[in-house]
Amino acid sequence: ESFHDVDMGEIIMGNVALTRYTRPTPVQKHAIPIIKTKRDLMACAQTGSGKTAAFLLPVLSQIYTEGPGEALQAVKNSENGKYGRRKQYPISLVLAPTRELALQIYDEARKFAYRSHVRPCVVYGGADIGQQIRDLERGCHLLVATPGRLVDMMERGKIGLDYCKYNALAFNTVTVFYLVLDEADRMLDMGFEPQIRRIVEQDTMPPKGLRQTMMFSATFPKEIQILARDFLEEYIFLAV
Ligand code: AMP
Repeated sequence: ESFHDVDMGEIIMGNVALTRYTRPTPVQKHAIPIIKTKRDLMACAQTGSGKTAAFLLPVLSQIYTEGPGEALQAVKNSENGKYGRRKQYPISLVLAPTRELALQIYDEARKFAYRSHVRPCVVYGGADIGQQIRDLERGCHLLVATPGRLVDMMERGKIGLDYCKYNALAFNTVTVFYLVLDEADRMLDMGFEPQIRRIVEQDTMPPKGLRQTMMFSATFPKEIQILARDFLEEYIFLAV
């Protein structure tokens, strides 16, 4: 068993080697091939199981190989819109309950994206929004966000989620949007359901079929089952 069982592109694999992860953990071993087949996923996995790399590696490698050289370009060319170049269209979004978790995911994403053109960004509440906006404006392929701050950013017109539509119009290519809900049970416990629904159910969010959705949760109570039913399509259920 090794990370080489699934093709994830040379740069990403080189970065995995740099992290000194020698063998995939169980959730990585099972989730990575499922995500690579482009199926939706509901995974029950605890903190410490290696779930972050389980979704980051396949998502980053997809972004990396799916003609993403154009992603930053798309951002630069979006000056026709009301917000001009200041509005970012990330191709993937990871929602996380806390600033700490968001930062951990972002740090891991930076390690895996090292030496590639893929640019991760992070936004979370309780910190200077101006600085986060300036960082976003340098380009963002993968956005890690806490729900409240993301809603704020969207209301300010700094983030658009309709990357797929934008890309289809600008480059005539079909791309898939990647949506990850990490620690979904904790996000609900913290009362983020209205914000999460606002984000996922808004018009500009790519619909099922144009997006691949992955939910991770330590537990699988009724509320999470309902969220999975509403957000996922013909998903694979994985428990490790
Ligand atoms: P996570 O469950 O994603 O928060 O990861 C828990 C910890 O395990 C983090 O510190 C990771 O850096 C580490 N980790 C993740 N995958 C592996 C792996 N395949 N081998 C060794 N350590 C890992």
